[in-house]
Amino acid sequence: MIQLCEVAKTYQTRSQRVVAVAPLSGHIARGEFVMITGRSGAGKSTLLSLMGGLTRPDEGRVNVMGQDLWALSDAERARFRARHIGFVFQFASLIPTLTVLENLLVPASFLPPGEGGNRKRALELLERVGLPDCADRLPWQLSGGQQKRVAVARALLNRPELLLADEPTADLDEETERAIVDLFLEENRAGTTVVMVTHSRELVPVASRHLILNAGQVHLAS
Ligand code: ADP
Ligand code: MG
Repeated sequence: MIQLCEVAKTYQTRSQRVVAVAPLSGHIARGEFVMITGRSGAGKSTLLSLMGGLTRPDEGRVNVMGQDLWALSDAERARFRARHIGFVFQFASLIPTLTVLENLLVPASFLPPGEGGNRKRALELLERVGLPDCADRLPWQLSGGQQKRVAVARALLNRPELLLADEPTADLDEETERAIVDLFLEENRAGTTVVMVTHSRELVPVASRHLILNAGQVHLAS
């Protein structure tokens, strides 16, 4: 599903060079459920965004489903992502001027009519994340945790083969956290490959593999 070949990402600020992901190789097979943990600043968000084609690596190659993401044009990559990859951002990143339902439908707008998820699917997903009555609200009318649940639903709209989720349960109570993880497990059993970043030690055992990231390098793979 994902193949990383000597992928590296360094950020340059005015006074520093920060190595976020050191040259890293590895692969994630179709059907896996991988949890990534590691300290704040370890490079987890950068790694996930490299896997999803959101951050361009300084070096190396990122292949998803056999496709070299950076051999595509911007428009092709946007379509590829919309069709195959669901992404839950660490900060929900909803569009403030769109309602919850409209936010949910955004991924469909990158695909030809009929290919992405529709309104019915969006409403079903809202129900599954426990927000059946929030379709017409604006993001600011939701709590942080509720916004995160909308972001989870949005990531699943187009039935992606690959779900990348960056601390999707960070601001949630235990019960909602469990509901989100159950939803991911259900999608995983239906064939979706899941890669999730978490700080929650209790969640690690639900995954089929655990990667610990430290200073941009994978330190343990079990
Ligand atoms: P994590 O998600 O594990 O907390 P990140 O991938 O967000 O880690 O960040 C990895 C490192 O890269 C950190 O040292 C962080 O400060 C740095 N970093 C992240 N984004 C930027 C950026 N846009 N500019 C400069 N440094 C950044
Ligand atoms: Mg992060």
